[in-house]
Amino acid sequence: STGLSDADPALFKSVADELDRQKNQIELIASENIVSKAVMEAQGSVLTNKYAEGYPSRRYYGGCEYVDVAEELAINRAKELFGCEFVNVQPHSGAQANGAVMLALLQPGDTVLGMSLDAGGHLTHGARPALSGKWFNAVQYGVREQDFLIDYDHVEALAVEHNPKLIIAGGSAIPRQIDFKRFREIADKVGAYLMVDMAHFAGLVAGGVHPSPLPYADVVTTTTHKTLRGPRGGMILSNNLEIGKKINSAVFPGLQGGPLMHVIAAKAVAFGEALRPEFKSYAQQVVDNARVLADVLQSRGFNIVTNGTDTHLMLVDLRPKGLKGNIADVALERAGITCNKNGIPFDTEKPTVTSGIRLGTPAGTTRGFGTEEFKLIGKLIADVLDALVDQPEGDAEVEASVRAQVQDLCNKFPIYS
Ligand code: PLP
Repeated sequence: STGLSDADPALFKSVADELDRQKNQIELIASENIVSKAVMEAQGSVLTNKYAEGYPSRRYYGGCEYVDVAEELAINRAKELFGCEFVNVQPHSGAQANGAVMLALLQPGDTVLGMSLDAGGHLTHGARPALSGKWFNAVQYGVREQDFLIDYDHVEALAVEHNPKLIIAGGSAIPRQIDFKRFREIADKVGAYLMVDMAHFAGLVAGGVHPSPLPYADVVTTTTHKTLRGPRGGMILSNNLEIGKKINSAVFPGLQGGPLMHVIAAKAVAFGEALRPEFKSYAQQVVDNARVLADVLQSRGFNIVTNGTDTHLMLVDLRPKGLKGNIADVALERAGITCNKNGIPFDTEKPTVTSGIRLGTPAGTTRGFGTEEFKLIGKLIADVLDALVDQPEGDAEVEASVRAQVQDLCNKFPIYS
């Protein structure tokens, strides 16, 4: 049969251009990573052809004996990786995983307590425009004004006042470790389920450089494509087999139809990679690199939210320089550095403008950057942003010089070569 380049040149070009983009820029979007060729091969496999509604050995279709192997490998490896009794690897995404937990444990109108989007939470944790905010009575907690850390006393007060059935910890822009034990105590005090969404830091847990939420949470959700470095997808974990049964029914037939068996196969490959000792060094390097990057930016006069990071990500508050997130992220992109504008807690700018950018080290670390490279990257970022202070449209000379140094780094640490 015909390959993609002949069958569909326009589409082929978009893929080739995207590969080229990934090879020749520095990826600092905290939620992205670079999967191995093995993960890619599994995802691009014939398993995409297979319908397998149900679970291994309990399918609604014939011919599932080989995809059963793939799903069992994924489940067993995830159980080993996170030390837990129950795993569902079928959620198509992180949002689907969170939706399935709500379907399993709640009724419409029940109260959920999650972190607000503007403090670092995720849409699926009860934000107004999302299903979680529309179909449930969503109460939201934030961070303390003085240090931008989670205000556990306030979380507890809200829990006592509103009596949620589900409390959610986790988010998309939280640079610090979360106190899972404290969340457990709060949940116990009001008789709520505790869900931890570890989407961002799952790879750090797998690599042993971040505490695991599993001893504390009733249920843990995650994506598989961020620090965990697998294919784009979701997963649900628990140590409670009764909850596990409800989760299985909620994912299928509750929320989804046929599982994406090619993606599940790729998840299995990624979990296998994460079980190897090299992944521990990777996770440690991700955290070391983030600290170095935060330090360099701080030394150049940027404010790092919470004064640093103990994970893979940081929020850079641009207000000391008088800059806005939307101007900063396009300038950095012109110079070959990709990140995203991000509101900082209590931001008075619109979400399309923002006062900050979010930076993360998982993808750069995968391509081999260590602390020396991240020191340089910090300097390059600061050079581009400092130049914006006087020239909001960007200093072409500075950006060209940074672009050239970015290209050098990319050439020294190639991907998919
Ligand atoms: N949960 C958290 C904490 C996230 O950061 C994200 C992704 O941004 C999600 C859930 C949703 O994952 P997905 O984009 O796969 O639906």
